[in-house]
Amino acid sequence: MINTKRVRIGTCTKDCYGSCVFKGIWDDEALEHKLQSTHPLKEHPFTNGFFCPKYRNRENLLYHPKRVKTPLIRKGEKPENNFEKTTLEKVFEIISEKISDIQVRGESSSILGAFYAGNSGLISQYAPLRFFRKIGATITNGGICNEGGCAGLTELFGTYSTTNPFQLIDPSTRLIVIWGSNLSETNNHAYFLVKQALKRGTKIVVIDSRRTVLAKKADLFLHIFPGTDHFLVKIILNELIANNIYDGKFLKSYVDSYSSLFSEVAKIEKEKLLEQIGIKNQIVQNFINFLIKFKHHTLFNIGYGVQKNFNGGRIVKCIALVQILLGNLGKAGTGLIYSQSDFLKPLLQPLQDYITNIKERPKMNEIPIIELSSALLSKNYRMLFIYNFNPASSLPNQDLLRKLLLTKDLFIIVLDMFLNETTKYADIVIPAKFDLETNDIISPFYIPSLSINIGGPCPYQNCISNYEFFQHLALKIGYNNIFQESQETIFNNCIEMLPKNIQESITTVGYYLLYNMDSIPFENLEFPTSNNRIQAKGPHFNFGENEFMGRISKKINEFILISPSHLYLLHSQLGQVHFKYIDEFSKIFLTPEDIESLELNKGNKVIVSNEYYRGVYILEESNILKSGTALIYSGLSSILEEKTNVNHFTPSKPEELGYSGAYNSTLVKITKFESK
Ligand code: SF4
Repeated sequence: MINTKRVRIGTCTKDCYGSCVFKGIWDDEALEHKLQSTHPLKEHPFTNGFFCPKYRNRENLLYHPKRVKTPLIRKGEKPENNFEKTTLEKVFEIISEKISDIQVRGESSSILGAFYAGNSGLISQYAPLRFFRKIGATITNGGICNEGGCAGLTELFGTYSTTNPFQLIDPSTRLIVIWGSNLSETNNHAYFLVKQALKRGTKIVVIDSRRTVLAKKADLFLHIFPGTDHFLVKIILNELIANNIYDGKFLKSYVDSYSSLFSEVAKIEKEKLLEQIGIKNQIVQNFINFLIKFKHHTLFNIGYGVQKNFNGGRIVKCIALVQILLGNLGKAGTGLIYSQSDFLKPLLQPLQDYITNIKERPKMNEIPIIELSSALLSKNYRMLFIYNFNPASSLPNQDLLRKLLLTKDLFIIVLDMFLNETTKYADIVIPAKFDLETNDIISPFYIPSLSINIGGPCPYQNCISNYEFFQHLALKIGYNNIFQESQETIFNNCIEMLPKNIQESITTVGYYLLYNMDSIPFENLEFPTSNNRIQAKGPHFNFGENEFMGRISKKINEFILISPSHLYLLHSQLGQVHFKYIDEFSKIFLTPEDIESLELNKGNKVIVSNEYYRGVYILEESNILKSGTALIYSGLSSILEEKTNVNHFTPSKPEELGYSGAYNSTLVKITKFESK
């Protein structure tokens, strides 16, 4: 019997810290289940031979009975997933006619391409821009995730990527501060490294609004109210400066304008700050003692939740000031781990320029992705393409967005693998290929590295990659010179554009790590600012007196709402393989004490409301939250009748510096549900 199996390298592209690299065992001759198993690489020092529980069973998702396998055209009213099957030929005809009509009227910029990073590599994400540029359309830019923190750090260092995350297991690291990152649920590969450090005796401090799994193992836990991190920083800096425990030599040699920082924190209202943060002075003192004891051996790992706030970039910038003041940068065992994607920019820019064909075309009309609602509100758009993105789940202020997606004469085309909240607004759904079914290049944002996905065959003949879809559409309209290569050729050309050593590594083992485990970026402490020095010009702390920060001004039934991802779910697509957790999305979690203070019980139906929406949830207890905080998981909608999504309660107004989502800058009121 002939063995038809073959091994292909894959990278998980679920827009997650992991970017796990694996070997896929494919049987190309199998009728349907062509991908038979996946094996995370043991030799990849971050993947470490395991996947997370969210996406262990990707084979089940690939061949899931609910996968969209044929093009669909709307049959019933919006917003419902009520479609009839059609053919690719028919949809290309309809879409190309509409585009031609719009072009004839000279309204090409009313065609909007909205995309993000979900389920994608570089080609999947950027190649469609060739099409949008050619037709003179508008596209979205920016992101909804970590951009606030990136912008804050860039003000200081000229880049947001300063540290090699493998410093987590460097023997010089004696103290790791995990600031606002629930590693065991969102970044379990870093969690694995931190556990190794713990075993070796490295001290761990966790600062979070949730008592995370790691918080229970940590040497010290600071359980703070969401959005009060900078108040904590203020107390720490005040103490360090008052007691002369900063690194004066470091400041003089490498930091501009640091003296303004001294005057800014010279006088503080400590009692008030402690009350806003919600912790005791002794806990803060214990943390300061750790910082003093392990000066020059302390590493910070900052999560993205802390900057999902109107002032999120400034919060992250304030946190970084602690490391600057202590001179904890550029040495083994020190640094600030946040997003490492900036390290990749010099490598990726030429690839991106080639993939998008940018040099040959004029600049495009762009709108920030976070402002999709405002853009639609302008009524300037007649056609909307959505790919790698589920905006009717992941963008804030869902009520407004969903109303706008119903705009008359707005023709919506969604490319996706499953029907979801966004397809309810689509006129046409294109059955998209999975990441695993196309060749692509993946640029992780936690470990500075590049890796690849070698696509296996898709058993469904109508499924089509983003590249193939826009290539066919361009040809149909009559543009035969914008997608001349096949996706495979683009992929191969991209690999050839990389330096030889990277090509070799990628083509032999599937990935390339920018740094060795013990490498220290910016060891010379020359940062990419205008004069290579850290820019500490203030003021840094002139914000934060609003109602989302600290407990002071809230009413008894008002709670700060946080919306993290669930241990088993990240994307709405993963709901298909973890359906047993779906009812978790119909719950609002509060501490038992807060439930009691509302004179309610666990299991009660409650009305959750704020200025944006009013929905029904089931009350559930959580012992990990801080009193005054409520939690609803993001990613899926409630299964109760109203099908509310947590982003019905989150504000459209973006974070101020990086224009990302200020998801945690919201309060909700909880009242008992009274049936009529
Ligand atoms: S979703 Fe899971 S499997 Fe995928 S990259 Fe993240 S940790 Fe790895």
